[in-house]
Amino acid sequence: KIYHDDDADVDIVRSKTVAFIGYGNQGRAQALNLRDSEVNNIIIGNIDDDYAKQAQEDGFTPVSIEEAVRQGDILMLLIPDEDQQTVWNEKIRNNIKPNTTLVVASGYNVAFNLLDLPDDMDVVMVAPRMIGAGVRDRYVQNIPYPCFVSVEKDVSGTALATCLSIACAIGATRGNGAVSSSCREEAGIDLFAEQALWPEIMAIFREGYNVLHEAGFSDEAILFDMYLSKEPAEIFERAADEGFVKQLKYHSRTSQYGQLSTMNRHDGKDIREKFRRVLNDNILSGNFAKKMVKYKMGC
Ligand code: NDP
Repeated sequence: KIYHDDDADVDIVRSKTVAFIGYGNQGRAQALNLRDSEVNNIIIGNIDDDYAKQAQEDGFTPVSIEEAVRQGDILMLLIPDEDQQTVWNEKIRNNIKPNTTLVVASGYNVAFNLLDLPDDMDVVMVAPRMIGAGVRDRYVQNIPYPCFVSVEKDVSGTALATCLSIACAIGATRGNGAVSSSCREEAGIDLFAEQALWPEIMAIFREGYNVLHEAGFSDEAILFDMYLSKEPAEIFERAADEGFVKQLKYHSRTSQYGQLSTMNRHDGKDIREKFRRVLNDNILSGNFAKKMVKYKMGC
């Protein structure tokens, strides 16, 4: 399902105190967007660092994370995923007001049950598919951007309305709208891209280089042709706009014939099996999340 501006009531978030936990990439962008959407009760909770100074320069009065949590009806959890569990246990969990809504911008910690959630807490996801600067620039320029939304825990019965109100106030329901997803889906696909797709793509480029280098071609020519020219970036951009096959019309006849005549050389079975193992055994099983917790603890 896709949600548009018409599905949302921004007055819901305007009537609440919104506490930001973290004023970094996403925190700053989303706080500024909310303020421009006339959400007036915004509290910035941040450690005393350059981000807190930035918040002051932007006209906010940053407080400690604990203080922000004590005041918030809505908690925007916008610190790095790998730090959320520790900060939650040390600074957030014991300061949460009753009947608060938690908003995450990434599904990871909720999907893998890393946060000890109070029973009366609603949990929603508003996850822009965009860096923070993009979230801010597009809001200001009134340009839509992709975003996933989901309700993970609905104790109040109003979690979806709150979720859409926030998504609308940060500009995420404009244009094509915000896409209904889930923390499990968002985290699963994200981790899959990081652990399956990109390592494979990098290995393909590395081995492509090795074979061409062995054949005596110069490093400069190989690397320029392979990616320094930014041709792959351009191909991906066209593929996003028009589709992988349709973008072939921008390539020469020789290139089209070469690509299409060799495309089905692999039936994909080996790679599909490898990808399945990464997805099922490492990601969806929770093994990766457990390994990451140990890694953070230095074990
Ligand atoms: P940032 O790396 O910008 O960090 C946000 C803030 O958290 C900073 O003020 C940072 O301060 C603070 N912080 C870091 N560690 C701690 C800690 N241990 N205790 C307290 N504060 C801490 O985060 P992002 O904005 O990139 O990410 C926030 C959330 O948004 C994540 O869930 C992420 O997955 C999600 N997201 C991010 C996107 C992006 O493009 N960045 C896109 C979509 C979603 P300092 O650096 O000084 O430690």
